[in-house]
Amino acid sequence: MASARILIADDDTSIVQTMTWVLKEHGYDVVSAHQGSRVLELMAERTPDLVLLDVMFPDADGYQLLERIKGDDRWSDVPVMMVSSLPPEEAAVRTLGLGAADFVKKPFRVKELLARIQAQLRMRAILRGANETLRDIEAELERVREEAENRRKLVDILHDVTDDLSSDEIYHLLARRVARALDLTFCSVILAREGERPRVVATAFEQASARGFELDLERYPEIRLALDSGRPVLVEDVMQSPLYADVRKRWLRDGTTVTTRSVIALPFALEPTQAGVFFLRRAMNEPPLTAEDVEFADTVVKAAVVAVQRAKVLETTMADNRRLEVLAQTDPLTAVLNRRALTERLTSELERVKRYDSTVSILLIDIDHFKRVNDSFGHLVGDDVLTDVGALLQSAVRSVDVVARYGGKEFVLVLPETALAGAIAFAERIRELIEERDFQHAQGNALRLTASIGVACYPLPGLETVEDLLAKADQALYRAKAEGRNRVRS
Ligand code: GH3
Ligand code: MG
Repeated sequence: MASARILIADDDTSIVQTMTWVLKEHGYDVVSAHQGSRVLELMAERTPDLVLLDVMFPDADGYQLLERIKGDDRWSDVPVMMVSSLPPEEAAVRTLGLGAADFVKKPFRVKELLARIQAQLRMRAILRGANETLRDIEAELERVREEAENRRKLVDILHDVTDDLSSDEIYHLLARRVARALDLTFCSVILAREGERPRVVATAFEQASARGFELDLERYPEIRLALDSGRPVLVEDVMQSPLYADVRKRWLRDGTTVTTRSVIALPFALEPTQAGVFFLRRAMNEPPLTAEDVEFADTVVKAAVVAVQRAKVLETTMADNRRLEVLAQTDPLTAVLNRRALTERLTSELERVKRYDSTVSILLIDIDHFKRVNDSFGHLVGDDVLTDVGALLQSAVRSVDVVARYGGKEFVLVLPETALAGAIAFAERIRELIEERDFQHAQGNALRLTASIGVACYPLPGLETVEDLLAKADQALYRAKAEGRNRVRS
């Protein structure tokens, strides 16, 4: 350690000379001032570790000098020992009050002065050390704060991600969030399926054109390396990295203007057959990507992969559930709703209608003499005909209407917001459609059919439940059959 520097300021030349000699003998570096006006200049020029300051100068006031030194940020921690022939009761109290470290009465004994100087310097060293520790602690605190900030970003990202999103949406979101967190101009997700060329599936910003874009890995050595090694690849400067040697030659040959400065390729594995890479870039005019950026992005991506896998499972389960649900509601022969689903729809429809003082009609459609179809052409043809009737009904109704198979050869149409007159007119139209249709099944022979239709409409006095409504339609259907079939009754 360099020796401590002491500034002696005293208008008494003999004191300055003696002290300078003594202090130098004890290994100190000494700077001296004979005039008060030089004190502050020397403070600025030489920055002493300790000051021995006289109280009285012909040209300056020691108290004022002390105040100036203590009031200056540069020197506030430099101990100032006042040296004076003034009675200590007066001067000592005043100078210590102004921030002096000590007061030494002239004439002083050299040994005692040296001991006091040593004590002050030791104290200052301890204080400095404490300050440094404090600064270290502050820096550590700042680092922890930064880490917490990064973790908060991560939590933010994962919060977004773990909501029930599709994996496509998750990729897009991750690319965007990683880009935002690391202040990137570009971030994209590339998926590489076994035996296929890697494709860009998501980019940070809305670049629809990049979606599904196939990558030529010759031009992206870091992506190739990341995929092959399964490790993150950081290229701080594409102009320097040996990894880019071939690509640089290519740029030169093709006259390519290079805008990218540094890149990170972060590999991740979703399934044994599918790998991916997060591809992060910074432009020439931006600070290069660092190992810390790799670490942060890697943490985000690792956690995100779990979320993506979860989303994938969720997607499959949801798709399966949807399929099952559809299956559970569908009549397998005709693909219209089954009776159970009809009852459910009709129940909620009737509730809705009651709530809004609205109206709903149903048609109960029954194919006439269907037994003859089976008897003449066989059951399989009968089945095909029923399938055709289902399709015919489905294509005839509005999107809000419901088509269901009620039983064997009976179908029900639910017509929301339809009053009786409208329902009868529509039933008539359905009856005509069936009558006019050639059911082309009987080995090329045209097969003609008719249907009888019963109509019921809510509201109607005494009619309260779904069963009431169906019973009402059934009674009307019975009359249509009884009165000769191929007709509509209500
Ligand atoms: P109508 O109702 O006009 O009195 O005469 P119908 O001959 O249609 O009536 P019936 O009740 O006597 O016969 C119903 C026939 O419908 C008997 C049954 O084989 C047939 N049927 C019911 N469900 C199916 C089915 O899913 N497939 C086939 N192929 N036939 C069915
Ligand atoms: Mg019958």
